[in-house]
Amino acid sequence: MISSPLLKEFRGFIDGSWVGADSGELLEVHNPATGTLLAAVPNMRNVETDRAIAAARASMRIPSSAAERATWLSGIDHALRENKEELARIITLEQGKPWPEAQVEVEYAAGFFRYYAQHLDRLEPHTIEEEPKNCRWTVYSRPVGVVALITPWNFPLAMLAKKLAAAIAADCAAVVKPSAKTPLTMVAFFSLLEDKLQFPAGRINLLLGQAGAIGDALCRNPSVAMISFTGSTRVGSELITKTAPQVKKLALELGGNAPYIVFADADLDRAADHLIANKFRAAGQTCVCANRILVEDSVADRFADKVAERVRNLTVGDGMDEGVDIGPLIDANAYEKVRGYLRDALDKGARCVAGADPGELEDDQAPFFPPAVLADVNESMKCSRQEVFGPLVTIMRFADEDEAIAMANNTSLGLAAYVFCKALKRAEQVAAQLHFGHVGLNTGTGPTPEAPFGGMLQSGFGREGGLEGLHEFVEVQTLAAAK
Ligand code: NAP
Repeated sequence: MISSPLLKEFRGFIDGSWVGADSGELLEVHNPATGTLLAAVPNMRNVETDRAIAAARASMRIPSSAAERATWLSGIDHALRENKEELARIITLEQGKPWPEAQVEVEYAAGFFRYYAQHLDRLEPHTIEEEPKNCRWTVYSRPVGVVALITPWNFPLAMLAKKLAAAIAADCAAVVKPSAKTPLTMVAFFSLLEDKLQFPAGRINLLLGQAGAIGDALCRNPSVAMISFTGSTRVGSELITKTAPQVKKLALELGGNAPYIVFADADLDRAADHLIANKFRAAGQTCVCANRILVEDSVADRFADKVAERVRNLTVGDGMDEGVDIGPLIDANAYEKVRGYLRDALDKGARCVAGADPGELEDDQAPFFPPAVLADVNESMKCSRQEVFGPLVTIMRFADEDEAIAMANNTSLGLAAYVFCKALKRAEQVAAQLHFGHVGLNTGTGPTPEAPFGGMLQSGFGREGGLEGLHEFVEVQTLAAAK
């Protein structure tokens, strides 16, 4: 069992109190690197969900001042930074990513609270200069209301931070539902909130348990004004259908299929270094991971060799061990899925230039997937059409710029893309033709708290981070006052 000063409770948090499931049912949480049982948490359903929503709604009767919200946001920023190592340890134990990488996640998460604490003034009302119709027109940013925040397991803290920081800044009350695979980071986070900050009871609630039952209750309950969801396109699409009858506001951060375009004139070493950093974060289980490496024909073999050489130096192991670059996949299903993509590509003619088929997972084996590099991947292979979500580098060739753009855009997902090319003007022209919400030019970097991030097409809608992310959590109200 896990032991941590930040884990005094293994329960949910509703209306200012730690609570279990009415049924008494528990869900086990395991360490993916060792298979050991870390804890058992309540398996909540619709009854607890409705209770949390009612508490959130009641807490909004008394609005909080901008000064109060700034204090809360800064307080969370500091609490996260002060407890970075311990929070990161909990992330590593339940999610698997290397401990140093988990510490970067904590810093990244803290950045959202700090950023919004500094930009609350952007929600101040403003008046329209023209004063048409003999009225004074004032535009207010009102909190959207009770918001439900649903997050995945790959960044147990950061995915919540993006949403919650903006929700607090906008003066919304929140009901949080983390993945059942990684609930302990959230329990630790709520314990920090309780210890360090005086939030009104019900303002922020934590539900642990069954995604289906909790999700249905969040969609059905009319007191939930908005659902902000990060996860798969399949579940995002379900939420659209289920919330349609109430025309609920949605912000959806869904799956990706990122192209990583390398032109012949690019600095190939830089492109290879950035690819390693981009591709192997969280063992390749991030929405912004390069999924298709598109390389101009004349340098494709050279680039594949450079990537393969770097990949051979990566160490796979328990994220708490020193010197580990890649932890385990989240579970055996993830392992089988990634292996399926590898085998399908090999069957259809791809070449493995680093790594190999790791074989079937034995019953008692942890889901460590050694990184592999595939060359000569083409569009008939499943790995080019679906999100691989694992440490598999898939290299495809293109003949010219038009073909690179056509291949990059040949997906219904539009989250992140990367372009490596010496001529910046050309890179910008290529970027303008890509239907992706985030484009890195000569960098494999992903999002940051200061800039808006989100998808196009079936990668969702709405933005997180930046001022756009703040405005997701407000409704605009226009007041026309007769003069
Ligand atoms: P997922 O299965 O869609 O789950 C995401 C969250 O939704 C989890 O909390 C899950 O709970 C919950 N959930 C599952 N079914 C639900 C339902 N019917 N109603 C309401 N909630 C439900 O996705 P995942 O496998 O955890 O995460 C991987 C996906 O997330 C990938 O596609 C990745 O690209 C995407 N992602 C996108 C971004 C982005 O910023 N665009 C960032 C990170 C990840 P349980 O886990 O308890 O089932």
